[in-house]
This record gives sequence, structure tokens and C-alpha cells, in this order.
Amino acid sequence: MDLKGNSVENLNTSFNALETFLGDQNTLEKVRELLKRTDGSVSEEQKIVLNQIEKTLKCYIVESDDAKALRESMMKKEGTLQKSRNNLKTQYTDKDGKVVDTTPTVIRTKMRSDPEESVRKSCWEMLRKNGPFLLDNGFCDIIKERNRFARELGFEDFYDLKVTNAEGFSKKKCFEMLDGLEQATKPLLDKALEMLKKEKGEDATKPWNTGFALSGELTKLTDPYYPFEYAPEVWGRSFSKMNIKYKGATMRLDLCDRKGKYPNGFCHWPTAPYKTQDGTFIPSETNFTSLATPDEIGSGNTALTTLMHEGGHAAHFSNIVQGSPLFSQERAPFSVALAETQSMFLDALCEDASWQARYAKNRKGETIPWELIERSIKERHPYKVFQLRGMIAVPYFEKALYEMDEKDLTPENVLKVADEVEMKIQGGLAGRPLMSVPHILADESSCYYHGYVFAEMAVHQTREYFFKTGDGTIVDNPRVGKELIENYWVHGSGNPGFLGLVNNLTGSPLKHDAWVNELGVEVEDMLKDEKAEYEKALASASSSSKDEIDLEMRAIFVHGDDVISDSNDSSFTDACEKFRGWIYQEWPKTKTMA
Ligand SMILES: [Zn+2]
Repeated sequence: MDLKGNSVENLNTSFNALETFLGDQNTLEKVRELLKRTDGSVSEEQKIVLNQIEKTLKCYIVESDDAKALRESMMKKEGTLQKSRNNLKTQYTDKDGKVVDTTPTVIRTKMRSDPEESVRKSCWEMLRKNGPFLLDNGFCDIIKERNRFARELGFEDFYDLKVTNAEGFSKKKCFEMLDGLEQATKPLLDKALEMLKKEKGEDATKPWNTGFALSGELTKLTDPYYPFEYAPEVWGRSFSKMNIKYKGATMRLDLCDRKGKYPNGFCHWPTAPYKTQDGTFIPSETNFTSLATPDEIGSGNTALTTLMHEGGHAAHFSNIVQGSPLFSQERAPFSVALAETQSMFLDALCEDASWQARYAKNRKGETIPWELIERSIKERHPYKVFQLRGMIAVPYFEKALYEMDEKDLTPENVLKVADEVEMKIQGGLAGRPLMSVPHILADESSCYYHGYVFAEMAVHQTREYFFKTGDGTIVDNPRVGKELIENYWVHGSGNPGFLGLVNNLTGSPLKHDAWVNELGVEVEDMLKDEKAEYEKALASASSSSKDEIDLEMRAIFVHGDDVISDSNDSSFTDACEKFRGWIYQEWPKTKTMA
């Protein structure tokens, strides 16, 4: 993150201290002894907490000394690899043949929006360099040790361990669900690939061209309606209208990119919220980062979606009210799928015509015209399946990676397997090469990408539920915040768990039907529905844009170690305004766009 006092050694030390705390056998034995008591000395409420402690410690207790040694060794290797990763220069060649130093975010943005094919190809080649780099720096050994560690603990392999700890079901069950989705969407993929060739030509199927062919010009045309510097206020207003509250949380927002910043937006909770034994609620503290380059085309939209996403995580975690921080800490046994369902449900709103009619406005306050939304649906809807296939490619690749025999785990084979999975699942080499997906590297984030897939399934099922009940709307509907808090959020990682929560709210077990059905809707039908939503929203939205934003949260805008503004000084809206001023000062090009 490039912050003062940043140190890989300290990170490893605190990681190991946390592991020791979570892996304490004596605590586990004490908990089990207390749970066995029948003399009334342990209340029902305390039992709920004790069960959660047991469930959590079981994810971290390492019984054998061999496994302990493996764990330490693999963490050390990973630390070394992470550190050496900073040495991989992120560069591309511009249209004049000049090599430019940049950040991974700019690479991704350029691939979608740079008109020069050679620049996009050079960006894609940069992404492809991640694989050989990781493999030259010990990635295979890390995979081997992770598997040995998992097998020492009685799991099939590391993937099996991770999914069992994180979701409470086995690798087998996980891939049964994924296989169902894979089969249901294969015909949609074939249809979309055919259409891509027919509409945009054979060249569009090249990995550095597909993204551009599908979004290049639209990104540019819609860009003025997503001015980056207004994003925090838009997010705050939209959440506030849905009655989403943060229960006194403090949130630090570090939104802009800079060299050396971690290449993915995320949220962390240095303080996880909980209720003390006397019932006092301790609110959460959140650090939140995204990677905006405010004057790069398309980055305003990306940043806003990231805000809705990470702000959604923060809202979820702020509202967990249980008797221990172990219900609200983000690592296992917290279900990735449960966490992502909340953030993805909220960032999905940015694509609804109903939301865009209210919130997608340019710097003069003009609403995005229907023609652009219409065009977006026509151009994007038939190709949405690409995103789904890109998502499921990651778990299929990691499954194959961790199922390889140790003797076969060589850099050449890993690259070969990555390409094979891309070909099979995505129908060709991927615009985002599997080896460039940041999640596959760290222990914490590896083997959990299926969580995003199940979350997307749950998002569609949850949207369907809100559309079919009450007044059938989500945007600006205060019922949504209330139901999410009461049904999805308050429980944290305690019972009833991800699958149970989805079932309880939507009245049906989790299925891929709502998602697959939506992908299969004909463009004409979708246009009809969305146009009606757009017009309804325009008619109702005009008066509401001056309402006070009340999120029950302290927001502090920062850039690395510098504080830009603090809502405690006056209000959330004022803090947003100061932030805008800072953007105009740091990225003067943005001001001339205004
Ligand atoms: Zn997320």
C-alpha cells in the first residue's frame, strides 16, 4: 500500500500472532468443556458464542507438528514471492513505441479503451508476464506445500480445505454446483461467440480485442455521466435512500491509485463490530481502498462500482450484532459467498436503468439519456455470459492446479493448464489471463473465487425476490436496507450460514435458475422493461437530490498517509465536497472536464 511504516516482516509477524491466537488448542479444549456443561452455569446466549469460537478455531487449529512446520514454511515462501512481485515492472509500449511505466489498473483500463490495437496487445502481454514471473519465483513450491499441509490435516487437497473452512461444504459439492452452471451456460457461450464473430469480425475474438470491441466507444460516451469526483456522494445518497445505516462505524476511504498500491480494491476491518457481555455495541472500523485514476476514461464508472461494492461490504459488516468479534471477522469461517452476495447485490444496481435515471449525471447535472442505456443493453446483454465464464474459469483453474501430481507441477505444465482452462471455459485465451488474477497468489484469497460465483447466483435470486414481492422495486426503496439488515446482515458468520440465509429470505434453496434465465432474456424484452423503469424513475426522482445523507457513519477521505477530509468536521456531504476540491487540485485535467 506504500504507507509509512509498511513492512513485510511486520505483516508476517502479526499474521503469525493471529494464527497462534486462532490456533490455540487450550482455548478449544476449554470451549468444549464449557459446552458440555449441563448445570445451567452456561447460558443459551453464551453457548451461541462458544459454538462460534469452536467453529472458528477448528479452521485454524493445527494438530500435528509436521503440519505446523509446513504452514510456517509456506507462509514464508509466500511472503518472499509477494515481496519479489514488487520487482515486476508494470509497463506497456505506447503507439510511438515508447515503453511506459504504469500501474495494473491503468493496464486494465487501457485494454478496454485504448483505440490503438498495438497498445492493447502490449497491455495484454504485460498481463501474460505475471504467470512466468510467479512461476520463476517459487509459485509451484507454494502449491506443493499448501497441498501437503491440507493432506496432513485430512483433506483431499488445499482447495478442499479452503472451501470446507470458508463455506462449510466440500470441494465435491462446490463443483457439483459449478458443473450445473457450466453446463447450463455452455450453449449461451457458443451463441455469444458466434454473434461476436458475425457482428465484430474474427479479430474481435482475440483476447486483447474482445473487451474493447464490446465496450470501447460506449465507455467513452457514458464516461461524462460518471464523474469520479462525485462518486462518493452518489454512493452515499443511493445507500441512504435505501435506508442502509453503518451503526456508528468509522470508514477510511483511500480511493485513488498511486504507484505501489495493492492492485485490487478491498475492504479491511481493523475493528470488527460486536456486542460486549453487558450489551454495549462496539462499532466497526473500516479501511477501504480503490484504484481510481480520475482523468482516465472509464475510471469514474469503475470507481463508482467499486465504491458501491466495497461500501456494500462495509455496510454488511457494520451491521453484524453478535456476542463476539468472531462473528464479524472477515476470514474463515466467514463465507466468501455470503460476503460477496451483499456487495455484488449493491454494485449491480449501477446497471439498472432505474438507478441510472436517478444517479448517472454529468457535471452539469444532466441525466444519462435513454439512448445510451438502450445501446448499452443491445451491445452488452448478449455477451454477459462472457463474464460468467470468466468467473468460473478461476475455480476450474485452481481446482486443476491443486489436483496436479507434485511431479507434474512445473512452470510449463501450470501455464499449459491455465491456457487449457481458458480455452475450454472461455472459448479462447482470456483477456484477463488466469495467472494474472491476484487472488490465486495469497493463502487468504486463493481457492475462494467460487464464492463470487455462488454470490452472483444469490444476487440474482435476491433481486428476483425483491422484484416479485412488495412494490417490486429495489432502487431508493427503504424496505431493502431494512430487509438486508434483518435477514442477511445481523447474523454475521453464525447460523444459519450462507445457504440458509438465502433460503430464508428468498424462500427457495440457492439455484442458478434466476441468473441463467436473465442471461437468456431476449434483448427486445429487456429494452421494454428497462425503458419503463427509466421513465418511472425520471418522473419520481427530480425533487430528492437535495435530501440530507444520513449513513450513521464517520467517513474520512485519505490518500495514503494524507487526510483529505473528515465528515466529523461537519457532514458527509461537506466531506465529499472537500474531496472534490482535492481531486480538481491533484488531477487538474478533471477540472477542465468540469
Ligand atoms: Zn467483494
